[in-house]
Amino acid sequence: MIIKYKCEKGKLTLLFTPEKSDPTTQQIRNTTFNTTTKLEMASNQCVFYLPSDWTIDSVHPDVFALAVLAAIYPFCGPKIHLPQGVSVDFHNQVKKVTKKQVLPVDLTLSPRKAPTHAVPALTYSGGIDSTAAAILLPENTHLFYFDRLIPEKGMKTLLNQEAAYYACDAMAKMGRTVHRIKTDMQYVRKPVGFSSFLADAVPAMLLADYYGFDTIGHGQTMEIGYQVGRIGFKDCKENEVGNPWYELLYAVDMPYTLPTIGLSEVSTTNIVRQSPYQAFAQACSRGKIKAPCMNCFKCFRKSLLEKVIMNQPLSNDYLDQLFAVKDVKRVLNASRPIYFSNILAYITSHYRGNHQKMLLLKRITRGDRLEVEWMNKWYPKSQEFIAPKYRNSVKREILKYAEPMNTRDIKIMQQSFSEAYFQHA
Ligand SMILES: [Zn+2]
Repeated sequence: MIIKYKCEKGKLTLLFTPEKSDPTTQQIRNTTFNTTTKLEMASNQCVFYLPSDWTIDSVHPDVFALAVLAAIYPFCGPKIHLPQGVSVDFHNQVKKVTKKQVLPVDLTLSPRKAPTHAVPALTYSGGIDSTAAAILLPENTHLFYFDRLIPEKGMKTLLNQEAAYYACDAMAKMGRTVHRIKTDMQYVRKPVGFSSFLADAVPAMLLADYYGFDTIGHGQTMEIGYQVGRIGFKDCKENEVGNPWYELLYAVDMPYTLPTIGLSEVSTTNIVRQSPYQAFAQACSRGKIKAPCMNCFKCFRKSLLEKVIMNQPLSNDYLDQLFAVKDVKRVLNASRPIYFSNILAYITSHYRGNHQKMLLLKRITRGDRLEVEWMNKWYPKSQEFIAPKYRNSVKREILKYAEPMNTRDIKIMQQSFSEAYFQHA
């Protein structure tokens, strides 16, 4: 893959020219429906609106290279040719972890070291999980909202960023530093989305030396990070969340900080609910300000979870309305395991009513039999995903809300949704 760029008054355009050895299509797993989808490279460029005095010299070439990798990783073959040389150390580390080569190598370039007074950066969506991450990270963390530009007029999208903009503004009013970086990067791939788990951190990486960052944060929970509630349990370092990013972020002195990776959605909801941010944190990306669409699976899961946590009654009318949503029917009827099975087990285990569909969901997800209390606890091994500099302070914050899992909790977490469970379900 050949990478070129243009930069004018902070408008950065990345240009990608695939070579013969680059895979332009891939088969990927759609985890929501348990199907396979074709992923293809749909555009050979994307744009970022950075501060007007930003230039290519504002970022260390190794960090620039990592940002490019995060943006188009599935489409990169064995060699990535960059506009600027990377350090020997970074080149070697990329080769070791990914078997790919980032070129050219600049023999005179030292590896990137974060400045002494650096602060954390966090990708922030305005949703529950990244808000929980913002609560657990220090107050001086810079929050980066990935402001989605739609490249062509009239392009159809269900996305509505109103609520997220509102959340960004509200966060800023409360004294947090928030950056909204406009970009169309998600249109590089088709279907539209992020090409890797580090992709939404690309704006923060491009600005890593402009503002000075020493860690990249994200609000992934254990359902994504360890695939809990899907098939079994997979260590974060070995799945696509951590591999190859965990090691490559260390190579640019900006290790991952995933404060919520050892917590379930039950805990992140709990953390936000106890904070002043609950007034504007909103999971749904299709609804309006303080009005989630109530027409998507996320609204189904998150609104039921919130009601259960707050001990609010679930009326049959409310459940009728939720179970009638087309998106919800599709997810619940997809091949097993149902997306976010553990959260549905948690919700249904607390359900005492007589709604038939809810009772059926309870049986399917084993909300009637499973122990679910571990979802209120913290998985301590996950602390390896908190940058050493911030580990103690983030741990202190986590422990205000969740006690550490014991050996028994960990066993239940790892085995409750194993393959054997789904065969018997
Ligand atoms: Zn929704």
